[in-house]
Amino acid sequence: MHFENDLLFAQKADEKGELKDFRNKFFIPQHNGSDAIYFVGNSLGLQPKKVKDYIQQQLDDWAQFGVEGYWQAKNPWINYQDDFTTPLSKIVGCLPAEVVAMNQLTVNLHLLMVSFYRPTKTRYKIICEAKAFPSDQYAFESQVRFHNLNPEEAIIEIKPRNGEYNLRTEDIISTIRQHSNETALVLFGGINYYSGQFFDLKKITEAAHDAGAYAGFDLAHAAGNVELKLHDWNVDFACWCSYKYLNSGPGGIAGAYIHERYATDLNFPRFAGWWGYEKDTRFQMGKGFKPIPTAEGWQLSCTQVLPMAVHKAALDIFEEAGIENLHTKRKNLTAYLHFILSDINQNKKIFEIITPANKEEHGCQVSLLFNEKGKEIFHALTENGVMADWREPDCIRVAPVPLYNTFADVWRFGNIIQNILQQ
Ligand SMILES: *Cc1c(COP(=O)(O)O)cnc(C)c1O
Repeated sequence: MHFENDLLFAQKADEKGELKDFRNKFFIPQHNGSDAIYFVGNSLGLQPKKVKDYIQQQLDDWAQFGVEGYWQAKNPWINYQDDFTTPLSKIVGCLPAEVVAMNQLTVNLHLLMVSFYRPTKTRYKIICEAKAFPSDQYAFESQVRFHNLNPEEAIIEIKPRNGEYNLRTEDIISTIRQHSNETALVLFGGINYYSGQFFDLKKITEAAHDAGAYAGFDLAHAAGNVELKLHDWNVDFACWCSYKYLNSGPGGIAGAYIHERYATDLNFPRFAGWWGYEKDTRFQMGKGFKPIPTAEGWQLSCTQVLPMAVHKAALDIFEEAGIENLHTKRKNLTAYLHFILSDINQNKKIFEIITPANKEEHGCQVSLLFNEKGKEIFHALTENGVMADWREPDCIRVAPVPLYNTFADVWRFGNIIQNILQQ
């Protein structure tokens, strides 16, 4: 696509492009009476306007039917989680039987580590990216301690080379090889939350398997953002939250993927609860756990209908948009952001983009590292109605998302930075 740093160009691109009416499906936060430039969908996605109706339906069903809502509700609660498998399978690229909507992200990470991190005397290491999201770091560390191991020894963090901001796939692979006899699990973010780097999940998975280890991914910043093919890439397991790119509300219902070779293995180790029990005989309340032979076999507790109603409102929009259209617009919109940023950063080195420039290595997010005045610029952005995200030290993260952001948003963002810099 050919780009121009011009509002008219941006408006035309919005008119002609994919998903142009989808912005109207969301509430856009306001700033001084007009739409804010909302570039923090990587933190909390916006509310679909229909969320209220979806929740109201559940409240009405509850009021009318009481416990009978499990069978009588418009979407009977007993099977409500089943509605998520198909849309989620398209978003993360897997079979419907490999995916389940449940719990929250860190909870799922722990549950999956119970299944996939079972260290032995010789094979006990976890290989991950340095500066993983803090919750993930705490999860890894506490799992390691739970097995009476020392995190200093058991957790291998891969850092970028000196003077670089991103990991090279070759370095990830060579580290895995180096520890191949001792590694139990390779566990990465799909996209690093700070740098926005999208890792090569396929190659990392291959290297993990060659080393005799499992490969799992935290897709908090990848699900609903980039193209994923978890099944084809042979990924063992993954989990994600739904409140970022999946727009399913603060603390919304999370998701998990488990490759069918484990999902169908009824003896595969896990922590069990009654909602993971074989559906036909669950209510016989018999002794002895018999798992559902899909990822749903990892469910513990009964369906969380209210947060799932929000999730459904959001995923119905993904279904309507079509995953292909979403990726086409995301690529164009992000490419436009990269173009605008390099245009305003031409002569002066005001900031550095630490997110990889290569299209295959990023999603929506761009992380800007400011050489000076980062904080002042961030405050000025806020005053001008740009909602972005500040990370110490000197980093501003912005993420135009394809469902509700526009080329005009991106142009205005660039224009505001330019004006700030001229003052
Ligand atoms: C957002 C995020 C989390 C948050 O975890 P919750 O359990 O949903 O609070 C965890 N890990 C990563 C990588 C994230 O980006």
